[in-house]
Amino acid sequence: MDVSPPAALKHLGQNFLIDPNIIRKIITLAELSPTDRVLEIGPGRGILTEALCRSADHVTAIEIDPRLYAYLSEQRSQFQNLTLILGDAMAYPVEQLPIGTVVVANLPYYLSTPLLFRLLEQAHRIPRLVLMLQNEVADRLVAKPGRSAYGILSVMAQYSADITKAFKVSPQCFRPRPDVDSAVVLLRVKDRMEQTREARDQFATFVRAAFAHRRKTLVNSLKDQGYEQKHVELALTTLHFSASIRAETLSLDDFITLSRHIHRA
Ligand code: SAM
Repeated sequence: MDVSPPAALKHLGQNFLIDPNIIRKIITLAELSPTDRVLEIGPGRGILTEALCRSADHVTAIEIDPRLYAYLSEQRSQFQNLTLILGDAMAYPVEQLPIGTVVVANLPYYLSTPLLFRLLEQAHRIPRLVLMLQNEVADRLVAKPGRSAYGILSVMAQYSADITKAFKVSPQCFRPRPDVDSAVVLLRVKDRMEQTREARDQFATFVRAAFAHRRKTLVNSLKDQGYEQKHVELALTTLHFSASIRAETLSLDDFITLSRHIHRA
């Protein structure tokens, strides 16, 4: 039976895709095979979910809105390979995702950055992610040193994945229309399995401390965050960096080298 979908709620970031061409482009980018398992966050009215179910072996979709969950349960009941979960994606146990799960989602924009950090913590389970985000967040993900968009998100995401901003999406492709442009990004997770959880946590702490005071030098920013000044200065000298360098000019490789050196000290 066809029932009309529930009205969109702004506070849950409900901007539903209506353009089948964008769905096709997302599916192509995800390179799904009939054996793939997919996690979708925020299936909404199910336009992307349906295409995912047709392309993959199994789809798990987490929706926070009980009205949409009920609507989808009824409207997509023909898909035997769909598991719908009513809940908050931020509380979903990503650490229990089967290894090899591909993430494909048009993310709720109010939550896109924390969700991305959460997913990247378990990046070794996820070979690739295809995500629709605000264009501005997509720019931060691919930003290079020296650009104003370059920051913690850029370094941490590029540490875990090779990232491509695949295409922009105009507000006209959604109902209701969002206030901002959107973009679809592909993150191909790098193989960092050789690293321990502790090493990855240390790196994240270092990057956060380095960017904590953007206008200060790296030495001062790290010192304010509890790092020993003499260790930082010694590392900079040994590795031939200027003593007045700032975080925003360091490349990903610079961050990795410095972090290793300072933590060893
Ligand atoms: N995938 C659909 C599409 O492309 O048309 C809907 C995308 S819409 C931008 C975001 C969806 O995420 C909405 O259905 C919203 O209810 C859901 N959502 C918002 N916050 C959520 C959360 N914390 N956990 C799970 N789903 C959430």
